[in-house]
Amino acid sequence: MSEAIIPQPGILDIALYEGGKSKVAGVTNVVKLSSNENPFGASDRAKEAFQRAVHSLHRYPSTDHAGLRQAIAEVHGLDAGRVICGVGSDEIIQMLAQAYAGPRDEVVFTEHGFLMYRISALAAGATPVEVPERERVTDVDAILRACGPRTKLVFIANPNNPTGTMISPAEVARLAAGLPRQAILVLDGAYAEYVEDFDAGKALVEARENVFMTRTFSKIYGLGGLRIGWGYGPKHIVDVLNRIRQPFNLSTAQLDTAEAAVRDQDWVAKSRGENARMRSWLAGALAEVGVPSDVSAANFILARFASAEEAEACDAWLQGEGLIVRRVSGYKLPNCLRITVGDEASCRRVAHAVTQFKAQR
Ligand SMILES: *Cc1c(COP(=O)(O)O)cnc(C)c1O
Repeated sequence: MSEAIIPQPGILDIALYEGGKSKVAGVTNVVKLSSNENPFGASDRAKEAFQRAVHSLHRYPSTDHAGLRQAIAEVHGLDAGRVICGVGSDEIIQMLAQAYAGPRDEVVFTEHGFLMYRISALAAGATPVEVPERERVTDVDAILRACGPRTKLVFIANPNNPTGTMISPAEVARLAAGLPRQAILVLDGAYAEYVEDFDAGKALVEARENVFMTRTFSKIYGLGGLRIGWGYGPKHIVDVLNRIRQPFNLSTAQLDTAEAAVRDQDWVAKSRGENARMRSWLAGALAEVGVPSDVSAANFILARFASAEEAEACDAWLQGEGLIVRRVSGYKLPNCLRITVGDEASCRRVAHAVTQFKAQR
């Protein structure tokens, strides 16, 4: 380590992000339920588009993403001129932090909020401000109390990860209306497609100058491995982000696959329906053996145990059964395990294993 060569302030405070595990030593036939992926994968139309992209590997991709933005706009009823695409919604979050928050600025998010908000704030040299939740639900009043003249960005995921809980559109609107003038409310809609008849904040984005929405192809679209996300916001913010966006941030394979995926809404509807069915079944089965969870609006449930020790022991038990779920102590939920809703067979395996775990305690 050199004493003279040092990175920008904040960067050494970043704790490395850990992805969901995908292997257990010595166990075969594992099911990965640790990263909220779609158990059915991507739609066939998306896979076909990806395969076709092999013929244009020598060509630079589009810089303006017109085809993908147009497809997103048509499907969601948006203005294509205010859609911006990125390398996962992570890149959109990072661009927002880079563009709007710097040294002495504050970036607000909640106690059990997504880890990328803190990482992006620190990477930009800004100060992360963490606000308590109320029983694992975003607390609008607490956020408003935490905001001040230095607040530049407020991130909430709705539904939230890892809690799975949501706040109402009226509460989100109250938050947007109560922020200081210089602050942007970012609504992270990574799980929005799992909620029936939900606009993820689109109407609020269109009604105001200070609300921005992020979305992803990593969850219901089953394309986490390909890294595509997008954002929708007021023209003035989208114009700023486009200035710092790398011109070739998305490859042709990413753009074409995402375009085919968003046009296949039958796949989305089928995935949403199957998730809702198995989510309530799994939550019910775990509750029956004394493992409660909050009502989840997403594609995972947050199983609550009596203690951190019990959660850890259950995690080890599940791993022995080839079931990989997510420990969430990094999200200040040490007595919980986040379990992705898999296909029916995986959900039955989880319920069976947790039942056996409880029986031997
Ligand atoms: C999974 C997830 C994302 C998606 O990130 P990508 O970079 O698009 O893969 C964003 N926000 C939250 C809260 C998530 O859980």
